[in-house]
Amino acid sequence: MKLNKILFRNHYVNLGDAFYVKTAPSPVASPGLIQFNDGLAKELGLSSANLDSADGAALFAGNLIPEGAEPLAMAYAGHQFGHFNPQLGDGRAIHLGEIDNPEGTSFDVQLKGSGRTFYSRGGDGRAALGPVLREYLVSEAMAKLDVPTTRALAVVTTGEDVIRDQLLPGGVITRIATSFVRVGTFQFFSAKGDVEAIQKLTDYVIERNYPFVRHTDNPYAAFLKSVVDSQAALIAKWMQLGFIHGVMNTDNMSIAGETIDYGPCAFMDSYDHDQVFSSIDRNGRYAYSNQPSIGLWNLTRLSESIIPLLADDTEVAVEVAQDILKTYIDTYQDYWLTGMRAKCGLSASTNTPVNDDKELIEELFNSMAENNADFTLTFFHLSKLTAQPSEQDHHIRRLFDNPKQFDDWATKWRKRLSDETQSETDRQVYMRSVNPVYIPRNHQIEAAIRAAEDHNDFSVFHDLLEVLQNPYIEQKGKIRYTLPPEPDEVVKQTFCGT
Ligand code: AMP
Ligand code: MG
Repeated sequence: MKLNKILFRNHYVNLGDAFYVKTAPSPVASPGLIQFNDGLAKELGLSSANLDSADGAALFAGNLIPEGAEPLAMAYAGHQFGHFNPQLGDGRAIHLGEIDNPEGTSFDVQLKGSGRTFYSRGGDGRAALGPVLREYLVSEAMAKLDVPTTRALAVVTTGEDVIRDQLLPGGVITRIATSFVRVGTFQFFSAKGDVEAIQKLTDYVIERNYPFVRHTDNPYAAFLKSVVDSQAALIAKWMQLGFIHGVMNTDNMSIAGETIDYGPCAFMDSYDHDQVFSSIDRNGRYAYSNQPSIGLWNLTRLSESIIPLLADDTEVAVEVAQDILKTYIDTYQDYWLTGMRAKCGLSASTNTPVNDDKELIEELFNSMAENNADFTLTFFHLSKLTAQPSEQDHHIRRLFDNPKQFDDWATKWRKRLSDETQSETDRQVYMRSVNPVYIPRNHQIEAAIRAAEDHNDFSVFHDLLEVLQNPYIEQKGKIRYTLPPEPDEVVKQTFCGT
């Protein structure tokens, strides 16, 4: 079956060759289509392209370049663990072009693991199958959990091994984003003092991702404010789900406010404020609780890069930037509190002062930390509790090392509920819609990877992926996917896989 035409547009190419290096993917020995995202293909208007085919596999492996695509590797810089590197760029990703969905929204399409580029430095430009499966599972789970994210369209095996600590089977993931421009892309041009390029890049991003700022008094300031807002919203969502990105370098922060560059990311099981999984994050710079402040740190780097656009006078421009950055903490706090209130079934339309709710929520987290309570299950079972203590309490109490501590908190929570105007059923339905029962737990991802890498068995991957399609609904026979790891299943560290 032949591929039907995909209509690519290539606006990024038009920015000029300072922005990228044109690079074709390097073909692989034997493309094997492991996973094709039918649902996403439909959303993108690609259903009629015959992608779920041998030609599709060839395309997703980089062996066949679709008509109209102009493959390139994007240039960017970035602060990695606080240290500036002026020259990073897509070392193992290749940008095929943009496509429009039926509603007219543009999406970028990239292959990751598709061979060396100008920016590969010492790397092989390849990806091992494990990290590719991990990105597919976690990014698709995030999408279904209503978290802004890059999406995964397909996974192929390459029929080739990659050399890491050991030989591992290779894979390529096709990922989709509303933008692959990063904070580091702005830094790339800022470090060169190329104001013209910064303006071109900013105009491109505004046109594409923030068109509504064009008609404001100072569109560049409004752009910065919008990015601040979307990052605050994104990080609040991560915090509400116990998600730890793991490598929040500025080159891994999307200008569109989407979760990007899934590497050693992970969801926590039992709650720990300072949880770190990434093996390379030795000082805990990107620990769970540091994510909001790192967001601000990264946004400050973005502001510095666009200072010349904010006002003619540098001092004025710095003031404009500072005033916008100052809003981040309150904006983040608002998103956090709104989301956490919803998770606890507390609506805003009561007489209870906001700060009392905040205190109550923080008390719950402190108690969860002291008692090793599972993050996801705590909120899931909380959603089922009634206004009066009942049999049902048993499920949540047993998550706490000392259930008495939960009881103490629950007494205060129930007292607060008596101030609610919504009915118990409404509250429970609402809570269930924001407190998932399934998240991609580390040990389950690991099991899926082990089966695939060690036994060429993708059934574990497919089963897990299936469950994650409906994270808020209890599915028959899937209870094991709700469970935290047994002691011998605990995954203490995660790896970049680069
Ligand atoms: P990451 O932290 O995974 O987002 O990657 C940081 C930088 O290293 C980016 O410029 C990547 O393109 C590059 N990189 C990571 N893995 C590889 C690889 N296997 N080959 C070439 N470049 C890589
Ligand atoms: Mg990256």
